[in-house]
Amino acid sequence: MAGDGPASVAVVGGGAVGLTAAVELAARGASVTLYERDDLGSGATGRAAGLCYDAYADRVDARVAARSLAAFRDLDLLIERPYVWVAREGDDHVAAAIREQVAAMRERGRDVELLAPTGIADRFPALRTDHLQVGAVAHNAGYVDTDAYVAAMAERAGESGVAVETHTEVDLADTRTVRTPDGTSRYDAVLLAAGAHTDRLAASADCSLALGRYRAQALVTEAVDVSPPLLYDASERFYARPEGDGLLVGDGAHAYAGDPDAADRRADDSFVADSLARVETAFGVSPAAVRSWAGLCTATPDRDPLVGAAAPGLFVATGWHGHGFMRAPALGRTVAEQILGGEGIDHFDPCRFDGDERVDLPAGIVD
Ligand SMILES: Cc1cc2nc3c(=O)[nH]c(=O)nc-3n(C[C@H](O)[C@H](O)[C@H](O)COP(=O)(O)OP(=O)(O)OC[C@H]3O[C@@H](n4cnc5c(N)ncnc54)[C@H](O)[C@@H]3O)c2cc1C
Repeated sequence: MAGDGPASVAVVGGGAVGLTAAVELAARGASVTLYERDDLGSGATGRAAGLCYDAYADRVDARVAARSLAAFRDLDLLIERPYVWVAREGDDHVAAAIREQVAAMRERGRDVELLAPTGIADRFPALRTDHLQVGAVAHNAGYVDTDAYVAAMAERAGESGVAVETHTEVDLADTRTVRTPDGTSRYDAVLLAAGAHTDRLAASADCSLALGRYRAQALVTEAVDVSPPLLYDASERFYARPEGDGLLVGDGAHAYAGDPDAADRRADDSFVADSLARVETAFGVSPAAVRSWAGLCTATPDRDPLVGAAAPGLFVATGWHGHGFMRAPALGRTVAEQILGGEGIDHFDPCRFDGDERVDLPAGIVD
C-alpha cells in the first residue's frame, strides 16, 4: 500500500489512459478494479492513428511527451519516424506560426529544425514540395500500434493483480461508489478515464466538467510506392503516416454536441474523397481507400486536459484534443500518483474553470 494513499481504487474506462493508470496504481500497491463497458481499447484508443512526438513549445507538454516517448520505447512499441509539419504556398499565417513554433521548441531543447521546401525535398523524397512554403521536422517522433499498447497494458494489468471487468457498464452512486449491473461497490477513490463519456459519468456524482467533443476521422489506403515520414499539413489540416504498405490519413474533425453513443463511427464519404485528393497532392500517388472510420475526441476551453481531482475521492483524466494516446503513458502515471497522494500538474487541474467558458474545436491535430 502506498503511503497514506487510498487502499482501493476503481478505474472506469479501459482505453490507453485508464489501463495505464490502473497498471501504475497497482504497481504502487493499490487494489485496483478496472471497469470497461465493452472490450479494452474499444473507444477512441482503438481508433487513434498513434502519432507520437515531442514537438511542443510548452515546457509541461514537452516534458509529458518526452516521458511518453521513453515509455513507448521501453515497451519496444515506437516505430521511429521523423515528424514533418508544413505550410502551403500562400498560407503566410501558418508559415509564420511554424517559424515561431520552431524557435520556441528549440529554446526548450527540442530536436527540431526549420526547412525550406528544397530541404524537405532533399531529406524526404517521398514528399512533394512544389506547393509548400515552409516546413519543420521533429526528430524525436514515431507511431505506435494502439492495439499493441492496449495488449501490453492488459498483460501488465493481469500480472499486477488488477481486476479487469470488461463488458461492465457502470455509473456513480456518489464520488466514491460505483454502480454496476450487479450492485454497488465503494472505493477509496474512483478515476474516470471514460473518454467522451467522462463528463456524463461525473455528472452522475453531481460533478460538472468543462468538456466538449468532436468527431475525427481516418482511413487506410491500399499499398503505395512511397514510404513517407509522419506528415502534418497545417494549411489543409490533415496528417498521414505509413500503415503497412499503405498510408493512414486522418483528421476531418468537426464539433459533435450530441449523445456520444449516437456518433457515427463510419467516416463520411466527403472525408474519404478529400483525403485521397490530399494524398495525391502530398505524395504524388493515387491509391484507393481500403478502410475508414470515425471516433470521438474530447476538448476543453483552454486546450489543456483535465487530469486530477474533480471532487474529494473522484479523479478524472480526459480532454485530450486528439493527443490522448501519445500522452497516456506519462499522464496515466501522473494521475495514478495523484490518487495516491502525489503531486499533479497545476495546468491540468479539472477545477480550473468557472463553468461558463466555451469549448472550441481544435484547429488541427497539432498547433
Ligand atoms: C481518428 C482518430 C485519430 C486519433 N489519432 C491520435 C493520434 O495520432 N495520437 C494521439 O495521441 N491521439 C489520437 N487520437 C485521440 C486518442 O484516440 C484519444 O485521445 C485517446 O485514445 C483517449 O484515450 P482514453 O483512454 O482517454 O479514452 P478511450 O480510448 O475513449 O477510452 C475510454 C473507455 O471508457 C469506456 N467507457 C465509457 N463509458 C463507460 C462506462 N459507463 N462504464 C465503463 N466503461 C466506459 C469506453 O468504452 C472506452 O473504452 C485520435 C482519435 C481519433 C478518433
